[in-house]
Amino acid sequence: MNTIASYAAIPAQSRGRHYPEPAPQYRTEFQRDRDRIIHSKAFRRLEYKTQVFVNHEGDLYRTRLTHSLEVAQIARSVARSMGLNEDLTEAIALSHDLGHTPFGHAGQDELNECMKAYGGFEHNLQSLRVVDVLEDSYADFPGINLTFETREGILKHCALKHAATLGDVGERFLNKTQPSLEAQLTNLADEIAYNNHDIEDGLRSGLITLEQLQEVPVFALEYGHVRTAYPDLSGRRLIRETLRRMIGRMVIDLIESSQAAIQLSGVQTLDEVRKQSLALMRYGDEMRTQKNVLKKFLRENLYFHPTVYRMTWRARKVVRALFETYMQDTRLLTPKYQVFAKRYEVDHGETGRALAIADFIAGMTDRYAMREYGQLFDLAGLR
Ligand code: MG
Repeated sequence: MNTIASYAAIPAQSRGRHYPEPAPQYRTEFQRDRDRIIHSKAFRRLEYKTQVFVNHEGDLYRTRLTHSLEVAQIARSVARSMGLNEDLTEAIALSHDLGHTPFGHAGQDELNECMKAYGGFEHNLQSLRVVDVLEDSYADFPGINLTFETREGILKHCALKHAATLGDVGERFLNKTQPSLEAQLTNLADEIAYNNHDIEDGLRSGLITLEQLQEVPVFALEYGHVRTAYPDLSGRRLIRETLRRMIGRMVIDLIESSQAAIQLSGVQTLDEVRKQSLALMRYGDEMRTQKNVLKKFLRENLYFHPTVYRMTWRARKVVRALFETYMQDTRLLTPKYQVFAKRYEVDHGETGRALAIADFIAGMTDRYAMREYGQLFDLAGLR
């Protein structure tokens, strides 16, 4: 039986919700957060949003939804073994990508370009906006009114100019303090998940090869072990067995290095965790170096592969065209976003209109965005 560590986040001591609510019955505050996230519209949309490969390219590639589930699974295992709060960890993991645009990073980069004159666009900030403002299921408040601790974890990074406008969850970027260990952990679990599943998806697509991966030590090492232990193993099974071991090695390194850092720091409470100048959840030096080599490999050989780049170019074109067209004529927005555009324009003028349009586009799934583009610009379809 695992005990809860003294420095874990404790639901009964939560800093609370923006709109005060009675304590839940038979659930903790963090369980309630997790449940609200799973019931949200934005969560269901993750199924049709790109991780690296556009959703329709193949049924076995990761989507934002399966990615988020893998992050949650890794993060929960680590949380449980370290006595951290598993429910909070899961809530953060399941919501960490809610603000992602269609078409993965290409969509986010283009929307950021479109929004340059209006303050820019950041997907971490947008994830927070989804849970704070854009979800509309509750009679008493906008958003889903999550606890401070879950919201703190969702806001992984953020520009200082934005942090200053965010109140409680923005403070740590200004004061250079740390979030909970559960938030730190989920951030690293995100990385473990995508570094490994992107290799698998990359190999499946044929864009990267096993030969190329031999230059990545963390992969080559486990691959060598598997080949020695199972000389006859080949194909998918060989790859899966290698990746399974890689995830295991990264997770064990993370647990052991973090536990050592926590012990060395002497922290006893969450408040002390927050006051640290560095994150206590971390890899050992050797694994950090190895992980960076892997990330660099994926960036150079997969994320910027010519085939992915062509998809990226098309995605950017769709996002740009939709943004510019809605800016010219907000009557092309759905009725709900027409109302938002009008409302935000009252306070912020053209910037308000741009904000409503960014909210609309960021919420789109890949296929919704492509359908919308087709309806607005594919004039041949009018025959
Ligand atoms: Mg992620």
